[in-house]
Formats: sequence, C-alpha cells, structure tokens
Amino acid sequence: MRKRIVAGNWKMNKTLQEGIELAKEVNNRVKALAPQHTQVIVGTPFIHLAEVNKLADAIAVSAQNCATEASGAYTGEVSAAMIASAGCRYVILGHSERRSYYGETDEILVKKVARALENGLDIIFCVGEVLADREAGKHFDIVKSQLENGLFHLDAASFARIVVAYEPVWAIGTGKTATSTQAEEMHAFIRQTIAGRYGKEAATATTILYGGSCNAKNADELFSQPDVDGGLIGGASLKADDFLAIINARENH
Ligand code: PEP
Repeated sequence: MRKRIVAGNWKMNKTLQEGIELAKEVNNRVKALAPQHTQVIVGTPFIHLAEVNKLADAIAVSAQNCATEASGAYTGEVSAAMIASAGCRYVILGHSERRSYYGETDEILVKKVARALENGLDIIFCVGEVLADREAGKHFDIVKSQLENGLFHLDAASFARIVVAYEPVWAIGTGKTATSTQAEEMHAFIRQTIAGRYGKEAATATTILYGGSCNAKNADELFSQPDVDGGLIGGASLKADDFLAIINARENH
C-alpha cells in the first residue's frame, strides 16, 4: 500500500519558541496515537528545523524551500545540504506561494529538485491551477505541464522519492475547498499522467496529497476518495487540535 501522509506547512508563522511548543505537542500526541498507516510531517520555517528535529521522534520534519545552488556566495539562501544536516527528511518545493510571490519557474524548480535529491531529501512537490485556469477549463493542462516540466526528467528511482501535492491555488488559505469530486478527478488524472511516464506500478505507488483549506471538518470526506492519499495542510496545521483531527481522519479511513 502506498504511503499516506498528513503534512503541515507552517509557512512564515510561529516564533522559534512557539514552534517548538507546537511541534512538541504534535509529536507527543502523534506518539500517543501511534498511527499505523499515516506518516505525519511538519514543514517548519528554516530557523526551527534543527530544534524541531531534535525533539521529533514520532513525526518527520520538512523544510518549505531550498536553494537552487549547492553552496557559495548566495546571501540569504539555505542549501539542501544544510536542511539535511539539520535532520530533515523532506522539503516542500513548488508551493504556489513560491511560484507566484518569488517567481519560481519550472527551470528553477528543476534545479531545486536536483539539489534536494542529491542531498537525500524526499520532495513534496506542489502543483495546482489558479482560478482563471480552472474557469477556462485549462486545469488539467496546467497541472500536466507542471508535472512534465518540473519532474518528468527524473529517472524512475528518483521519481519514487517524490510526493505530489495537488493544491488548487484558489483553495489555498481561502476557506474554499475543492469538492471531494474535484479533488478525486484531479488526483486520478495526476496518477494517470504519472502512469503514462513511469508506468502503472510507479503511479500506483505514488503518494498524492490534497492541499487547499483542508480542515478538521472536511478532511474525512476528502480522504474518503481513492486517489487522495493525505493532505498538505496550511492554516489548520498551526493548531494542534485541528492538525490532530486531520491526522485522525486519515488514520481512520
Ligand atoms: C498550503 O499552503 O499548502 C495550504 C494548503 O494552505 P491552507 O491549508 O491554509 O489552504
């Protein structure tokens, strides 16, 4: 069975002290729950990574970005090697906020993907269309091109280290969730697109997460869909009660 994942994306929230408190609570509650089928990940700001990794023994830790370059004179950047050295297993790449606010193109993402894989990080790779694309009926084409241009140059062994997160941009932080039918339709399309490139077995083994205003109330319905393997959770990952409710929804399905 492919891996089910609930991953939190804290974005630029929580001071170091607040982040440690939240991570401690999530870790301890996940440890008590002892999920059998669900990998729990917290995606923290860079500054939190080392400390959160020290306390995390029931959850995995992810960065939210990494540099395109390996090392050197790139003021303000954080390399994939540094992230790995803090104890992280994952990095989120291609988040729509990075694509739209920081101009991350497919070409930039190809470099980041390479740096992450070279340093042993598995990648949560985000794809998703903006509202205008959906309204124009172009959402499948957009997502297909993000997969093709960002990932499909990888060989099969490297691709096996990718978790895909479908995040319709119009649903991120807006409180407007995709319906479970819309989510399933896109997840099935993503799986079929992966099958076209890497074969059915690889596609069946790929974890595909839904992200976009997923919360304690709608998680159960979203996770009931056969191709929705879990969630990438923004706002609702900042409160332990809400995040745990989503983890429980995944675990109990
Ligand atoms: C995200 O940023 O990945 C996300 C899904 O955010 P939210 O859950 O707040 O919509």
